[in-house]
Amino acid sequence: MLTPATPEFAAINGLRAMPAPPAYLEDPRDIARGHGLLVRPETTAEVAHILRVCAQARVGVVPYGGGTGLVGGQVAGDGPAPLILSLERMAAIRTVDTAAGILVAEAGAPLAKVQAAAGGAGQLFPLSLASEGTAHVGGILATNAGGVQVLRYGMARDLCLGVESVLPDGAIHHGLTGLRKDNTGYDLRHLLIGSEGTLAVITAASLRLFPRPAEQVTVLAPVVSPVAAISLLSRLQDETGGLLTAFELISGQGLHFLAKVMPRIRRIFDPAPDWMVLVEAGAGRDSGIEAAVSRGFMAGMDAGETLDVRVARSGRQRTDFWTLRESLPAANRVIGAVSSHDISVPINAVPEFVDRGADVIASLGPLRINCFGHLGDGNLHYNIFPPEGEAASIWLPLRGEVSEAIYQLVADLGGSISAEHGIGRFRRQVLARYADPAKLAAMRTIKAALDPAGIMNPGAVL
Ligand SMILES: Cc1cc2nc3c(=O)[nH]c(=O)nc-3n(C[C@H](O)[C@H](O)[C@H](O)COP(=O)(O)OP(=O)(O)OC[C@H]3O[C@@H](n4cnc5c(N)ncnc54)[C@H](O)[C@@H]3O)c2cc1C
Repeated sequence: MLTPATPEFAAINGLRAMPAPPAYLEDPRDIARGHGLLVRPETTAEVAHILRVCAQARVGVVPYGGGTGLVGGQVAGDGPAPLILSLERMAAIRTVDTAAGILVAEAGAPLAKVQAAAGGAGQLFPLSLASEGTAHVGGILATNAGGVQVLRYGMARDLCLGVESVLPDGAIHHGLTGLRKDNTGYDLRHLLIGSEGTLAVITAASLRLFPRPAEQVTVLAPVVSPVAAISLLSRLQDETGGLLTAFELISGQGLHFLAKVMPRIRRIFDPAPDWMVLVEAGAGRDSGIEAAVSRGFMAGMDAGETLDVRVARSGRQRTDFWTLRESLPAANRVIGAVSSHDISVPINAVPEFVDRGADVIASLGPLRINCFGHLGDGNLHYNIFPPEGEAASIWLPLRGEVSEAIYQLVADLGGSISAEHGIGRFRRQVLARYADPAKLAAMRTIKAALDPAGIMNPGAVL
């Protein structure tokens, strides 16, 4: 245990560590409870000093961003108490270079602050998640976050040109390059992105900015099935020349949950359709983007894929459409899931996943499925709920079996058991079971080489 009475604490005492307040020991879904002391450095040099001291004292370090991670990577409950290293005091936007399209932010800057700084300079930082007010730059890179605009702009990895980081021995890696071309051997940036704090602490990043679309179209439309949704996606990409920024799937079950626990949210379609898509596209001035999107939907109607379409005619309507989508996770939490999965499959396999998934779950019991997410990326949030009127706790003994069945189906279809949330501590066993053995072995070798004392986020990922 790392307590003020232990020798390890004496070794790191000069770091001004303090008992971590409860907020640093919880995860958003209230699944895990962590322990440890908290330290909040203000500079990269201080981070380097902390890691040097911890490596010598063999004290584990858990890098901590906004605490919004959904797989427990930021919450260490097992093993000796670690030092929780929060980057929250390193939150500056260091530079915004509009000509080069690069913004340099410190790791503790909330994503929303980066978006606002980009917007203030007349540009766009396109990463967008429901947790953007709280998640930090360091956290979104460490988890390689996705969100609702991956279809057009890619994941966090695609939006990062370089990182500054501190390695477990305290060495500072000055990698804040703004270069778009740099083939000089292994790319440490890409190793750290998605490493969930197990290899180094990211202290700053140079991020890509984009022109802001002058024209934007947002549409909500019921679709007759996931197959129809995929066909519609392809039509709309053809018509717009690939200018869709979001293509989200929403299920009728999710809409029922919203109506039940958040009745003030505007329903838009009543009765709730079985399936619905939320589509957004953006382009420059006088681009004709709205006409192109309309043509795609008209063709979709002629083909019987969709029967109705609502186009947002004001900022308020656009907000209503997105509120519907972004409130789904919160409604799920109120209902209480038996198990939650963040999976991806090749996009053409989505309909088969949906059909076979429903059969598999039905064979296990009268459970309810809320399947929604970033259909344009083949990424579905596939969450399982108890029958109406029953508490999730009654069905928890079935959680392992439910998850196993879903992951096996994902593996059969060539998909991923974690599309965008990462592995953390909650998916570690699943990774060990489904990852390619050669990849796992290489991951262990990399971890041992960079972090021989095993101090970085012990118990996460591997
Ligand atoms: C309501 C809600 C909606 C969400 N929607 C999405 C979504 O659409 N797409 C998506 O991808 N995710 C989503 N998430 C998940 C979450 O927001 C992301 O995982 C986020 O990227 C984590 O950022 P954070 O700053 O909160 O990191 P934390 O939760 O603090 O940490 C996450 C992991 O990163 C490590 N870490 C944090 N900072 C650093 C650092 N500076 N250096 C090294 N390692 C570090 C931690 O050790 C931990 O392993 C959602 C979460 C919530 C609560």
